[in-house]
Amino acid sequence: MLISVKNLEKDYLSGEVVTKVLHGLTFNIDKGEFVSIMGPSGSGKSTLMHVLGFLDRATRGSYKFEDGDVTDLSDDDLAILRNNKIGFVFQAFNLLPRTTVLENVKLPLLYSDTKDNIEERAIETLKSVGLGHRLNFFTNQISGGEKQRVAIARALVNRPSVIFADEPTGNLDSKSGVGIMRILQDLNEKGNTIILVTHETYTSEHAKRIIKVMDGEIVDDYPVKVRRFAKDGEFLK
Ligand code: ADP
Ligand code: MG
Repeated sequence: MLISVKNLEKDYLSGEVVTKVLHGLTFNIDKGEFVSIMGPSGSGKSTLMHVLGFLDRATRGSYKFEDGDVTDLSDDDLAILRNNKIGFVFQAFNLLPRTTVLENVKLPLLYSDTKDNIEERAIETLKSVGLGHRLNFFTNQISGGEKQRVAIARALVNRPSVIFADEPTGNLDSKSGVGIMRILQDLNEKGNTIILVTHETYTSEHAKRIIKVMDGEIVDDYPVKVRRFAKDGEFLK
């Protein structure tokens, strides 16, 4: 089992005020799955992703990652797991400015246990997302769709156990969005585990399973029966 959470709760504290955001979530995700976490804005999807991706911790409940209990790991141990096991793709791309495409993708390798062939691996990964011709462009010289492909390459270059993509098409025109969904589907076909966070039903149906979240609770969890496949020339609704 890749991910197994039980009764996961998350509260935010600001001053004296406690806001309860996640209310006891229990679910498992296996290696090789392509899951959409789907729900309206404010339902707690990003909060859940941050906990699952070791960017934040749950307030209560337990979390097993690759069958190891990670509930009470130190911040340093969580950072090591995050750098070596998790790839993130965010709505706003979060690329480094004034830096080339290639440098952005090399960066996670410099923070990981990988020591060999850093440049070659970064180039190979960029080629796999169709950006072999953009290696030395600066990140402000490429289109939004290309920026998100750089972010996918950066997420992928460490060969993580799972890729989290939080509203990855949210800042893109619909054609570029289709390209991103297609890359995520191709990556899953090659065996990568993908967890997609989205508020759009249409986008969520590109995954194989949907976990529906509302007001910090799971209200549904089902396999996608009629799956959508991103194809060139189509539009993401
Ligand atoms: P989603 O990604 O589904 O839109 P979020 O996980 O971002 O939802 O937010 C869920 C709820 O938690 C929202 O009501 C939001 O205002 C609140 N929230 C998120 N982050 C914080 C924070 N750092 N402090 C306080 N409240 C937060
Ligand atoms: Mg969000």
